[in-house]
Amino acid sequence: MSKVSSSRGGSPSILFRGEIGLQNQGQFTSSLLVSSEHALDDAVDCFIEGRLLAPEITITRIEIMEIFQMERLGFGSKKFPKMVVSFLLAFCLLYMASMVYRSSSFDLIGEFAKADVTGETAENVTLPSVKEDNLSSQPESVVVDKLLGGLLAPGFDEESCISRYQSNLYRKISPHKPSAYLVSKLRKYEDLHKRCGPYTESYNRTLKELSSSHINGTVDCNYIVWTPSNGLGNRIISMASSFLYAVLTDRVLLVDHGPDMTDLFCEPFPDASWVLPKDFPLSNQFYGLQPGNVHSYGHLLWANSMNISAVTQSPSFLYLYLAYNYDNYDKLFYQDQNQGFLQKIPWLILKSDQYFVPYLFLIPSFQQELGNLFPDKETVFHHLVRYLFHPSNQAWGLITRFHQAYLASADQRIGLQVRVFNRKASPIKVVLEQILSCIQKEKLLPQVDEKKHIASPSKNKTSRAITIASLYPEYYESIKNMYWMKPTVNGDVIGVYQPSHEEFQHFGNNIHNIKAWAEIYILSLSDVLVTSSWSTFGYVAQGLGGLKPWMLYVPTGDKTTDRPCPRATSMEPCFHFPPNYYKNARTRRRLDSVSLVPHIMQCEDTSNGIKLVNDKKF
Ligand code: GDP
Repeated sequence: MSKVSSSRGGSPSILFRGEIGLQNQGQFTSSLLVSSEHALDDAVDCFIEGRLLAPEITITRIEIMEIFQMERLGFGSKKFPKMVVSFLLAFCLLYMASMVYRSSSFDLIGEFAKADVTGETAENVTLPSVKEDNLSSQPESVVVDKLLGGLLAPGFDEESCISRYQSNLYRKISPHKPSAYLVSKLRKYEDLHKRCGPYTESYNRTLKELSSSHINGTVDCNYIVWTPSNGLGNRIISMASSFLYAVLTDRVLLVDHGPDMTDLFCEPFPDASWVLPKDFPLSNQFYGLQPGNVHSYGHLLWANSMNISAVTQSPSFLYLYLAYNYDNYDKLFYQDQNQGFLQKIPWLILKSDQYFVPYLFLIPSFQQELGNLFPDKETVFHHLVRYLFHPSNQAWGLITRFHQAYLASADQRIGLQVRVFNRKASPIKVVLEQILSCIQKEKLLPQVDEKKHIASPSKNKTSRAITIASLYPEYYESIKNMYWMKPTVNGDVIGVYQPSHEEFQHFGNNIHNIKAWAEIYILSLSDVLVTSSWSTFGYVAQGLGGLKPWMLYVPTGDKTTDRPCPRATSMEPCFHFPPNYYKNARTRRRLDSVSLVPHIMQCEDTSNGIKLVNDKKF
């Protein structure tokens, strides 16, 4: 059964459990007689909003309207006088009034009603159904939770960012709820951001500090300015990390999206922008920011022989250089004893392409707060990425059009991300063999029947849609051809699609990044996800989707590997380049992570990296 019943005649669908036969509908509505157009509309709203239908009923608004109309035209029973109708309407009004005071987190009808007003109805949406993945412990029906368990703030203008409150219609409800503490902390952060955001009095006052090399007065707002480095996946994971750091240190996050990220995301915080104003005085220095910059914290530590207490005058700003090629002095940022000093600096300008969250869990002064925010350690990125990154209407158009055209009607959606970092080192033929071996060994897709031209008739055939995300077209061409030329052994119908093949990463290109973002998002809507090892592009998809992917090892050389795509231990991204403090200084071997914190493990896809897990599973 489809989880959102499709609606006819352009009316939005209403989601209830199960089905109702026409006969039952008749019984249910025979108790109503509505005389005016208004009353009819109100009564329908009331029945839907007030959930006066039994929870086992699936019925669309248009169907209810039709039944009312039948009653009006005299096809139904007219046993009930107008008094009954008046009573019911009065009851409905009272009920609705009580709803005004209720939390809006289950505001299904409000959502659909508003969608209707904006012309962006959700009428054609079919929620993904999962048949094979073991995450499919999803109840048969879902109650739409547009605020994602309180993660999102209510009250945004819905039209300016359709995806914010409609993404839930395209994916399964996440079984991972944000903690109440995280929710309250986010609301507090939003207040802070509103008070300190661009061009507020506090912002303007703090900006003045930049005209002097040292802090002169007191400021009530401190900032962290994120600057981009590397591809979109890298940028998203480092923005998410910077936001968490901002929350932990009571800073306001501002992002420099530059010209190639302007149309990708909606604003994440209500009533205030997170975009760094173009006239920010230091902007022109960001792009040349390298390790060893004289204004970096690493340099300051080096200049003071790592004794930060020797610094008597605090600078008004510092660079935190935390990208993959940071040097040993920049890495000192991660030492707890160096964190206190940073609290005095109003402006921190950060450059990173890393998911450095796991290391925040290794800094003792943050541990308790992080434990309160995230009792479930595997969900840190899942919550952060769904809170912060909502596709702009332009990107949402790409996502929903692709979904509606190719994925909506499939019984199962499979995302396959093929990221080849070095085409010469990883020949197409070998990568393809590895993909097919992954699919076969992990039983992700049915084999083709080489001996037949036509599949045996089967009642239970499943339709599966594979989305391939790759810079190159060859993997898509081969897999599509394979499923076109021969039937599957079990008769399943396989559709293979690729949204784009950009051939190479186009730096500085906004449309290229919109496509990349749309593809990351489309992958995240999968029931089953295969990502490529070491790819941050895949990490973002798995985090958004709350999926533990199968991680495809893209081989270098001419041989495939025995375990082509083991399943990831957690859906958290890997911190590829953590500092080496967790290695024994003498032996250079890794310390047993138990002696650090119990929620960190070595990444599956790179032995240098660390990632968060709930329980250590080595
Ligand atoms: P990573 O390099 O795999 O960790 O991911 P990044 O997203 O940081 O950088 C790779 C960049 O290459 C992306 O941001 C895109 O610009 C481009 N790219 C890589 N793979 C794809 C893909 O499958 N589809 C699209 N549209 N772009 C891709």
